[in-house]
Amino acid sequence: MFTLKTLSIFGLLASSTTAAFTVPNDDQDMTGLTVNSIPYSTRVKYMRLANEALYEQSGPCPFAAYGTIIVNHTADAIVCKGANFRTGDPTIHGEISAINACTAVFAAKNMTASQIYAAWGELSIYTNAESCPMCASAIRWSGFKEYIYGTTIQHNYNVGWGVMTLSSYDVFQQSRQLPGYQTSMLGQILTNETDPLFSWQYNETYPCPNGCVREYSPSRGYKTCFAPNATVTKRETVDHGDHWH
Ligand SMILES: [Zn+2]
Repeated sequence: MFTLKTLSIFGLLASSTTAAFTVPNDDQDMTGLTVNSIPYSTRVKYMRLANEALYEQSGPCPFAAYGTIIVNHTADAIVCKGANFRTGDPTIHGEISAINACTAVFAAKNMTASQIYAAWGELSIYTNAESCPMCASAIRWSGFKEYIYGTTIQHNYNVGWGVMTLSSYDVFQQSRQLPGYQTSMLGQILTNETDPLFSWQYNETYPCPNGCVREYSPSRGYKTCFAPNATVTKRETVDHGDHWH
């Protein structure tokens, strides 16, 4: 039976660009803070490197602008990188691809499965947008020492993305029964640089990032951003679907 409440929920889902919905508990802002003895300037440095890992793997303005790096702060080094490579496997978000990449790095060092499971607890995952519930769950199953994100789910909802409106905070709150390490969460790091990467896809008036140019996309039916030197053929290969994030 349809109640007024049910109807209003359908209304919200049907109008994803109106920003009428507030994602609960999606306001974790750790800007400026020193957490686990790591100064904010180091957080900024690595979040910027997460963006750069995206460009390196996917070009200057990929529609799916989700980039992830996994960092060993003890060694002050990136262990591995990931992005949404659009392989057809819908679980290969940036975070999952980075976890896969690090697992391969560890296996190549002849680490045992037990050693690999234990390694995550020493590492920090930096992702330029807040993880979806699938990836936030994977982060908790991994037992990372730290999870650091830039742009919020609320932001991406507000600018037109289809998102799962469950914050990482709420996923973590429901993950306390998991064994092993707790994971420190730092939200909204360097959003002045991460937000613009997600703001152009559904808004033709928003500036393209990194010198990209806005041109008509036959597959989308409106103007999106392309690398300035991309050919028409290349454009079609980089912009051909809607399962990105
Ligand atoms: Zn995800």
